[in-house]
Amino acid sequence: MEMEILQRDSSSSMEPPKIHRLEESVVNRIAAGEVIQRPVSAVKEVIENSLDASSTSINVIIKDGGLKLIQVSDDGHGIRYEDLSILCERHTTSKLSVYEDLQSIKSMGFRGEALASMTYVAHVTVTTITAGQLHGYRVSYRDGVMENEPKACAAVKGTQIQIENLFYNMMARRKTLHNSSDDYAKIVDLICRFAVHHINVSFSCRKHGAARADVHTVSTSSRIDAIKSIYGASVSRDLMEVTASENDSSSLIFNMHGYISNSNYIAKKMTMVLFINDRLVECSALKRAIEVVYTATLPKAAKPFVYMSIILPPEHVDVNVHPTKREVSLLNQEKIVETIQTTVDSKLRCSNSTRAFVTQQTAQSSPSVPLGASKDSNHDSSPSVGPKSQKVPVNKMVRTDSTDPVGRMHAYLLDQTLKKNECKSSLTSMRCAVRQRRNPKETADLTSVQELLNEIDTKCHSGLLDIVKHCTYVGMADDLMALLQHSTRLYLVNVVDLSKELMYQQVLRRFAHFNAIRLSDPAPVSELIAMALKEDEKESECDGDDDLREKIAEMNTDLLKQKAEMLEEYFCIHIDQQGNLCRLPVILDQYTPDMDRLPDLVLCLGNDVDWEDEKSCFQVISAALGNFYAMQPPLLPNPSGDGLQFYKKRKQPGDDDVTKDEIDHELLTEAETAWAQREWVVQHVLVPSMRLFLKPPKSMATDGTFVQEHTLASI
Ligand code: ADP
Ligand code: MG
Repeated sequence: MEMEILQRDSSSSMEPPKIHRLEESVVNRIAAGEVIQRPVSAVKEVIENSLDASSTSINVIIKDGGLKLIQVSDDGHGIRYEDLSILCERHTTSKLSVYEDLQSIKSMGFRGEALASMTYVAHVTVTTITAGQLHGYRVSYRDGVMENEPKACAAVKGTQIQIENLFYNMMARRKTLHNSSDDYAKIVDLICRFAVHHINVSFSCRKHGAARADVHTVSTSSRIDAIKSIYGASVSRDLMEVTASENDSSSLIFNMHGYISNSNYIAKKMTMVLFINDRLVECSALKRAIEVVYTATLPKAAKPFVYMSIILPPEHVDVNVHPTKREVSLLNQEKIVETIQTTVDSKLRCSNSTRAFVTQQTAQSSPSVPLGASKDSNHDSSPSVGPKSQKVPVNKMVRTDSTDPVGRMHAYLLDQTLKKNECKSSLTSMRCAVRQRRNPKETADLTSVQELLNEIDTKCHSGLLDIVKHCTYVGMADDLMALLQHSTRLYLVNVVDLSKELMYQQVLRRFAHFNAIRLSDPAPVSELIAMALKEDEKESECDGDDDLREKIAEMNTDLLKQKAEMLEEYFCIHIDQQGNLCRLPVILDQYTPDMDRLPDLVLCLGNDVDWEDEKSCFQVISAALGNFYAMQPPLLPNPSGDGLQFYKKRKQPGDDDVTKDEIDHELLTEAETAWAQREWVVQHVLVPSMRLFLKPPKSMATDGTFVQEHTLASI
């Protein structure tokens, strides 16, 4: 291998710099540094070799985070004497001889690079004995070659690899690693992962000189037992089994088996133990896809523990995208990721509705926090007198129930001071939960809902679907449009239209299976309707008659009271006997709608629904909810840009203290918070949910919802 680099000659800056050829050992060292990035990467390579050698016991000793010593002893088949001389040359391997073998290789590593690399950046000593031999051999390597002839020595079955003084010749690397104390922890973590998958191999890892091992597993036949002994019962008891597979005209596309945590498992970080064809790898697309499902379904348990083993035809895995073979890419990756994502999603949804029921019975004594952005029914929605917002970290703001122990459970947490009528309705929701648990499909297969769902499918635009599924969020371009990137293209998308459609579709998908947002103050329906009517009149500039308005409001309230049972059962819109709106459905987890727009929703329910025609009735209610939950811009003008004008205090006549350009900081802070919150919601709720759930209708391609912006220069 040859490499040329440009070197800057500082003495004569006008002359072109001289081109040097690097010494081969330097080239090798650079390449080795890529394969072995940290002590943990060396440990991984060596353990994989031991597993390839059919070992049943692998013991690791680490000194100084791996920089002084990494010693791995196995009881595998050992290395033949005659192979020792070329063992550490680059591209020597017993696992691959012609390029085509690359396609079908099943073992862990096969590029014959690992041991060679290590000899360029460390002192490597191998002690090994093969079956039937009376003694073993020991030999040390440096820069790819043996330092001396192998010496006969006593040995126990298998191979011991010692790697000493790692990066001794790469001072910068050594220094940065010295400063970090977590290399040992990384090694322990790595061995735990191997142990979860290779349950018939016993692993141990200890610090040099320590009496106790930090990981010690014995071979077992149960995966759950293995997880329990490695990660503890607190993890293993909160796991659910998942499986998925796909075949394509009789040939296997993939087969997945694994365990994922349920809503009880709360952690700071996601743990993803992924094996593809028995190789420990990372696949960030899959990891992200799973994390998104948890965030959407179990926001409280959004950092799951996941173990997955995926088996694919070996020719479908490309392990060479990453120098350490850690990150893989797969043929049919998108399809596989999507199938697994759907599997995880439905698993979580099932388990969650079961839990909802269980918790309801036990949660009586826990004081529940009022849910939903509370809203005075007589609140004037003009921006200048908006309620004072408290300063809350942006990421906390969307969820109003941070003490709620489990995600998506709030509908069933009972208030200590339940009023009688509320008791009755919570009984209804309990019944609903029981029914759901017994037969999750029961209420949802009303044919009209199915028809509406089918219409969504037939209207779906496949090109747009591809964009929403695989885009990344770039930022907000203005108050309405978000910038998304899909491959090398940028798109401007209208956040309001997009969220409106998404909400509409989700209402139909969650039909009769909603959790509830409880309004902290029940809102009288008649007042809401009167407010909405007044607002309409203001817009059409005709002065209405108060009596008439009241009459319409009263009639509509009566009508909605009559329809209360249906609204509650199918849409989780709860209106009590007194005509107060008490609860609304959760349509996207982590998202509560803007309660300022509640009057419009109620007016629409009272006025626009044809209650005789089932399908149209469901459609109009779903669309009304879609409008209400859409991610509208906050009512306060956006303070970044021209909107700032709005926050400048106007000079009052006779008031000399207030200068003309002084800013109303309180209002400004409120506006900044509202806009920051909205952007957070777009990025962390809308975009991930859209990837998961939205089927964009064809109309969106032409109505300005999606606008293609620029083409990025292809890299
Ligand atoms: P690769 O694993 O890609 O073949 P390595 O450099 O990791 O390349 O190892 C080179 C060769 O050394 C392997 O192909 C294998 O034959 C042999 N080897 C390494 N470690 C062991 C071990 N623990 N037991 C038996 N053979 C080993
Ligand atoms: Mg190897």
